[in-house]
Amino acid sequence: MPLYADDSHLTEFNGVVVKSGPRFVVLDRTTFYPDSGGQPSDTGVLRHSGGEVHVAKVLKRGLEIYHYLDADIPLGAEVHGIIDWPTRSWNMRRHSAEHLLTGLIEALGEPPKVFSDLEKLEYQPSELTAEQVTAVGHRFDEVVAGDAPVHVYYEDREKIDASGDPRKISFLQKIPRGVERLRIVDIGSYASTFCFGTHVKSTREIGHLVELRLEEAKKGKKIVHFKLEP
Ligand SMILES: [Zn+2]
Repeated sequence: MPLYADDSHLTEFNGVVVKSGPRFVVLDRTTFYPDSGGQPSDTGVLRHSGGEVHVAKVLKRGLEIYHYLDADIPLGAEVHGIIDWPTRSWNMRRHSAEHLLTGLIEALGEPPKVFSDLEKLEYQPSELTAEQVTAVGHRFDEVVAGDAPVHVYYEDREKIDASGDPRKISFLQKIPRGVERLRIVDIGSYASTFCFGTHVKSTREIGHLVELRLEEAKKGKKIVHFKLEP
């Protein structure tokens, strides 16, 4: 059971090993976020009666979440897990910033981005100008200062399909067919998207930008680079 989906600020939990192999375990519950959706995995430790084991990487395989370790833990062991909060927080803040910037740029009438990660958004084709990006940066800082709430909720695929909302339906086409319930993340009224990642509770937690610039790449591609305060 992924505990991070309901509470992205939960740092510790108790679980039981339900699958064990050389240097990996699957637990009955976990707050370790697996590498997915452009957001890197958590790191941390699992404590059990045999000692403390470091979690170096976490990956989702099918419905199971694999924790890759520096030592083995036996099947059935009870563990106390602790994620490395500075790593989670830094990833979550940058990922949430990505959502907010995406929403603010979409409001300018730009087509959807073609790629993004925790430090850049790519558009192709794009009419974005450096002046617009500067204005987006000011708006971003206003939204951060205004501490807009982040709202996470679920909607059935059928309902979204029937809504007639062309924006949501076009996003829906990128989600695998088997996913029947979509997780929607709204950042105030500024950004709304499907996402299974971890996010801040409100925009003040994101922090301010220390860098925002537009790179004009080849073939009409434009790349918005951003950096947050530490
Ligand atoms: Zn997200």
